[in-house]
Amino acid sequence: LNMRQPIMAGNWKMNPATEADALNLANGFCALLNEMADTCAMDDKEGCTEVVLFPPFPFISKVKDIVAKNGISVGAQQVYYEDKGAFTGSVAASMVKSVGCEYVLCGHSERRTLFSDSDVNINSKVKKVLEFGMKPILCIGETQEEYDLKITKEVCAMQVSKDLAGVSKQEMKNVVIAYEPVWAIGTGLVCDAESANEVHKYIRSVLSKMYDDEVAQSMRIQYGGSVTPDSVDGLMAMSDIDGCLVGGASLYADKFARIVNFQP
Ligand code: PEP
Repeated sequence: LNMRQPIMAGNWKMNPATEADALNLANGFCALLNEMADTCAMDDKEGCTEVVLFPPFPFISKVKDIVAKNGISVGAQQVYYEDKGAFTGSVAASMVKSVGCEYVLCGHSERRTLFSDSDVNINSKVKKVLEFGMKPILCIGETQEEYDLKITKEVCAMQVSKDLAGVSKQEMKNVVIAYEPVWAIGTGLVCDAESANEVHKYIRSVLSKMYDDEVAQSMRIQYGGSVTPDSVDGLMAMSDIDGCLVGGASLYADKFARIVNFQP
């Protein structure tokens, strides 16, 4: 029996361009959820889908004000691992916590490749996020090259063990993992549901060895990579896929509302 609460997350990345556009998107999304009948996102009663939005930093507070009444939480797309000081342009965990963030994305592939986030840095960020009472969504996944080399499992195992090094069993209750094959992110090439599910099962086996079966079975593992209203139902029907991390489609209120209201 799968007791894991589904979690759907929308990563807006560096979009939309203005605050007005961001608030429009948040308002439009909430309006659609309110119209949809069996929307779980509207309250946080047991068994409902958890929904999290990741707007760019400047919009977090106001987006939270809009979506909180729908039971939706907000998160930060990234934080630095130092507490404070001379780190021009960086944002600390305490800061995003103080404006109401519940989650922080750690290790997104765009941070790894474009901003040189290493597994060591990602591990420091995961631990900092946990220290401040927030929940990291740790993003892992193989590149196209690694996929072609058929080393998906090795890559995921390595990332999980390095990025979660020193995280206690107790803290693991607050961790979510997002399996995102890099070749599927922003490409329109969604990983087929069965193959993604195999990787999710494998990640659980790694967690079982690092921790125990309880951690492995209770850990929520999202799939990410070109999820759309057309692919979400098949993905969510899988035994070990507990939600989705959605980029592009989360910028359209109607698409993301449909994704949140998946029909497995
Ligand atoms: C992402 O940003 O994590 C992502 C999966 O993006 P997209 O849905 O656009 O592929």
